[in-house]
Parts: sequence; C-alpha cells; structure tokens
Amino acid sequence: MSEFSLELSEDQLQIQKWVHDFAEQVMRPAAHEWDEREETPWPIIEEASRIGLYSFDFMIQCFADPGGLLMPIANEELAWGDAGLGLAIFGSALGLAGIAANGTPEQLLEWGPQCFGTPDHIQLAAFAVSEADAGSDVSSLRTRAEYDEAKDEWVINGTKTWITNGGIADLHVVVATVDPGLGSRGQASFIVPPGTPGLSAGQKFKKMGIRASHTGEVVLDGVRVPGHCLLGGKEKLDERLARAREGKRSNSQAAMATFEATRPSVGAQALGIARAAYEYSLDYAKQRKAFGRLIIENQGIAFKIADMKTRIDASRMLVWRAAWMGRTGKAFTAGEGSMSKLYAGETAVWVTEQAIQIMGGYGYIREHPVERWHRDSKIYTIFEGTSEIQRLIIARAVSGIHIK
Ligand SMILES: Cc1cc2nc3c(=O)[nH]c(=O)nc-3n(C[C@H](O)[C@H](O)[C@H](O)COP(=O)(O)OP(=O)(O)OC[C@H]3O[C@@H](n4cnc5c(N)ncnc54)[C@H](O)[C@@H]3O)c2cc1C
Repeated sequence: MSEFSLELSEDQLQIQKWVHDFAEQVMRPAAHEWDEREETPWPIIEEASRIGLYSFDFMIQCFADPGGLLMPIANEELAWGDAGLGLAIFGSALGLAGIAANGTPEQLLEWGPQCFGTPDHIQLAAFAVSEADAGSDVSSLRTRAEYDEAKDEWVINGTKTWITNGGIADLHVVVATVDPGLGSRGQASFIVPPGTPGLSAGQKFKKMGIRASHTGEVVLDGVRVPGHCLLGGKEKLDERLARAREGKRSNSQAAMATFEATRPSVGAQALGIARAAYEYSLDYAKQRKAFGRLIIENQGIAFKIADMKTRIDASRMLVWRAAWMGRTGKAFTAGEGSMSKLYAGETAVWVTEQAIQIMGGYGYIREHPVERWHRDSKIYTIFEGTSEIQRLIIARAVSGIHIK
C-alpha cells in the first residue's frame, strides 16, 4: 500500500511546466484575436504539433500516466492559456477517446495517430454523437448504421449537430444506432476514415464562447465504411446486442463509455478557466484603489477571493480523484466522474462572474480577458453532459433509484 500523497512526480511537474509555458507564451497572446476571428486557429495547432503537444504520442503518455493526473494537469494548463484555443487542440482527443473507449488495441494503433497527423500534415478528429433531437437523450439517436453483409461494409445515414471539429475533421468517430428498438444499447461507434465519400460539413455555428473551436454539423449520406471500422468488432457487437435483446444488462454503451473517460479532463478545462480568472482578478484587486484604499482591503472583495480559491481547489481535488479512479480502475459508485465535471463547470461560471464583479466596468469590456473567460466558461455546464444530467447520474448512483 503506497503512502497517500498529493505531490506531483518530477515527470508530472515537468510536463505541467512545458504545457504552461506554451499556454503563456503562445496561447495567451493569441487568445483575443482568435476569439474575435471565430476561425480554427491553424498556426496555434501547428505550433502545438511542432513541439509534440498536439500528437498521438503525447496523448498516449497522458493515458499511460500511472496515477492518471497528467491528462487533467495538461488540460488545466491549456484552458488557463485559453479555452477556445485549448479545445482547438484538445478537440481531436475527443475522437481519440471515442476510439480508446470502444475500439480494440489494434484499432487504437491504426486510427489513433490519424487523429493528429504530423507537423507536416496535421489532421483533426471529431467525436460525433449529438443530433438535433438527441442531445442529453442519447438513447434517441436517429443516425442509422446498417450492415451490408455481401460487401462487409456499414452504411451510415443521418445528421450530427454541434460537433467539435465536425465536418472539418479528417477522421470522424460516429455513434449510430444499429438496432433502434434497443435505445442506447443498440448503438455502436464507427470510424469514418479521411476522405470517405458521403460525409460532408453542414452549417458552422456562431457561439457565445470558445469561439476559436469549430462547432458544426456533420451530414452522413450513404456513407460506406469497411467492416473493420466498427469499433470493438462485429463479434463483440453481436454478443452485446444478443444480451440486450434478452433483456440482460450491458455495461458498455458506446457514447457513455467515452464520456466517463473524458469528464475529468473536461472538468480540468473548466478549472483552468476559473484559475485564470481568479489570478487576474486577485492581481487587479491588489492594485485598484477606491475610497482611498485598495479594493482588496474590503472584506466584500477579499471574501470573494477566498471563496473563489476554495472552490477552485475543491474542483481540482474532485477532478484529480476522478482521473485517478478512472486510471486505476476504481468503480465510480457515486458518479465521481460526473461530480468532477459538474462542480468544476459550475465553479468556472461562478468564479468568472465574480472576477467581472471585482473588476467592475473593466471586467465587462473586451480590453481585459475576464468577459471572454466568462463566455467561455458557460459551455462547461452544457457539453459532455449538462449539469442536470450530471446530477441525475450522481443521484441515481447514490440512491439506487432511477430518478427521472
Ligand atoms: C460548443 C459545443 C460543442 C459540442 N461538442 C460536441 C461534440 O464534439 N460531440 C457531440 O456529440 N456533441 C457535442 N455537443 C453537444 C452537447 O453535448 C449537447 O448540446 C448537450 O449534450 C446537451 O444537449 P441538448 O443541447 O440537446 O440539450 P437538451 O438535451 O435538449 O437539454 C435542454 C435542457 O433540458 C435539461 N434536461 C434534459 N433532460 C433532462 C432530465 N432528464 N432531467 C433534468 N433536466 C434535463 C438539460 O440539462 C438542459 O438544461 C456540443 C455542444 C456545444 C454547444
């Protein structure tokens, strides 16, 4: 039994500093521009690829970290730099997580590197679940995948919406229903390889925040992918469907398995935004004078700072715990992954709002980054499961009752 410790290892500290330096030197100076442009920040992704931060190898290094903390540490620093740019870099990892959660080791090795490409040939990946009528309610997906046995091909039809990197990605991981009668238990994930005919970009959405990250529709019209693009393989799918048809429990639902793995990382991004806003407003409060004294000398301001710091540290503890549990195979008996994302997401919204309040009028204008951080923070109570859905998961887990 190892001694309990929250001290990071030398390796973890080194990576943390490496990502922080990139966030400080490359992302921070570019953040405002890309938020205004609302375009994919190719020069930033290229730079991240050049230093190996945007790469399959780095992701594998994070997945392999024995305590599981490297992924949240890297995500916190990226989002501290800028959440929109951070998601432009981390978005491809969502596709990779879809492959890692549902694919075989061979599929991970074949398709994982293609989620990122190389510095000379950068590629993007996307993880496409949501549809216009199926966001929180993943069981109602209408995108259909049908097996063409004669050709050993899957034919996919449907439209996905609000997909990070959707339509501009080289590789799409698409969750589709193979047996609509079984709800989420009748779903499977498919790789749609680069250049597959029938996949096209629908509309690109204009957003409130994380505007450097592309969010768009993906149209799948008679898309044909080879049999080996079914993640996990046909035999496993057939077994799973047979169990579901007999009414037996199945513990692997395609989209859910991915979300469990990615939630602490998403929570870590929210944490990064909150920390950025906290640090910025603390500095400000120690310089700004009103009524002849520093505003931080008023309890009304100082106590906000104390609460911000407390909630941020509590978020980090929840995020680290969930990441450690995921990596070491502990069962999420109380929805700990959901807790981390719920608390960190709501903390980011709250902390960034407090930061605006502390800065008064300066907090509300675009000369300072806190209004952007507030806009960026809001997505963290919505995507990868809304706050309400996280509460549902936690409440069901702790009560054993199927709360609606
Ligand atoms: C910028 C952005 C990026 C995204 N990226 C991706 C991506 O890469 N891949 C992907 O697949 N999806 C992505 N999404 C989609 C995102 O995951 C969904 O928007 C989210 O799951 C919510 O679904 P919805 O919008 O349909 O809301 P709805 O499900 O319609 O929910 C509306 C409201 O009702 C509440 N609600 C719903 N059901 C319940 C319930 N049972 N109990 C209590 N409250 C309930 C919700 O919490 C919410 O407040 C992205 C979305 C955005 C905005």
